[in-house]
Amino acid sequence: MKATIFQGSGKIEVQEVPDPVIQKPDDAIVKVTYCCICGSDLWPYRGLEPRDAGSRIGHEFMGIVEAVGEDVKNVKPGDLVVAPFVISDGTCPVCRAGETRFCRNFMFWGSKGNDAGQGEKVRVPMANGTLFAIPKDKLDEHMMRALLPLSDVLCTGHHAAVCGEVKEGSTVAVVGDGAVGLCAVAASKRLGASRIFLISTHKDRAAIGKKFGATDIIEARGDEAISQVKLKTNTLGVDCALECVGTPESWQIAFGVVRIGGNIGMVGVPHNVPDIAISKLFSTNIGVKGSGSPAAHYIPELMPDVLSGKLDVSAIFTKTIPLSDIAQGYKDMDERKEIKVLVKP
Ligand SMILES: [Zn+2]
Repeated sequence: MKATIFQGSGKIEVQEVPDPVIQKPDDAIVKVTYCCICGSDLWPYRGLEPRDAGSRIGHEFMGIVEAVGEDVKNVKPGDLVVAPFVISDGTCPVCRAGETRFCRNFMFWGSKGNDAGQGEKVRVPMANGTLFAIPKDKLDEHMMRALLPLSDVLCTGHHAAVCGEVKEGSTVAVVGDGAVGLCAVAASKRLGASRIFLISTHKDRAAIGKKFGATDIIEARGDEAISQVKLKTNTLGVDCALECVGTPESWQIAFGVVRIGGNIGMVGVPHNVPDIAISKLFSTNIGVKGSGSPAAHYIPELMPDVLSGKLDVSAIFTKTIPLSDIAQGYKDMDERKEIKVLVKP
């Protein structure tokens, strides 16, 4: 079978690798039908995050179960499944508290000898906690593209909204117009936000944001973006700022647009972001919460809305390529030519 191998910054190769086999009783083997490239795959690609050369890469995939070990009970061969971006058991106290990202036995795709999603097949450890069956009736190509984001970006955008405490009638500002930010717009709308500002200076991304529920596009950066949001909220700022980037600049906007007593939901992996002083929170009553998303916890809640068509973020996929072209897909996303690239092995 073929799989994508990370060979160092800027170097992505498709190589022939051995077919996976069941190694443990709770393993499953999945034949990948759709996978994609994540913004976070670009950090090691850009040399900004360490990753072993020669490691498999990719953590967003769905496919058909080919084989299961004897302890796998929740999926069976032939099932269509989606996997979250973190491998989790679903049974430890942390998972049972809903925090599957921090499972006591968590593993990442492509680390510690694990397969990864950008390939033809994947061995899935702890399959009972890590695979979610999708009812197969009435699924067309469009629905597949709407379901795949459950593996990461849709659950991550939802997590931003949950951590930012978006609820019926909330005013929201989404910082970040990448796939996660756009999903945070859709998730905020689903949770009942009455007004959603999307800070975006890219017309194509802003157009998708509007389709997903953004009511106002703030076509500005930095202090100018902050003053425009303030101006449009009677100088108050928004109830919820959703930080979906993780840079000092995006954090400056998040703190700048959130109102006194509001909340910041953060899902952008922080890179060189200065620490927040507790005294700053005390003097503003602003809440800050967030992490990598517990996608396995959210999938059962979000999947029915995807299947009903109520939650459709398939428009984040701006290009579809075969696995053999994946190096070009990384390049296109790195150069921001595409929002998100879908790969069909
Ligand atoms: Zn766990």
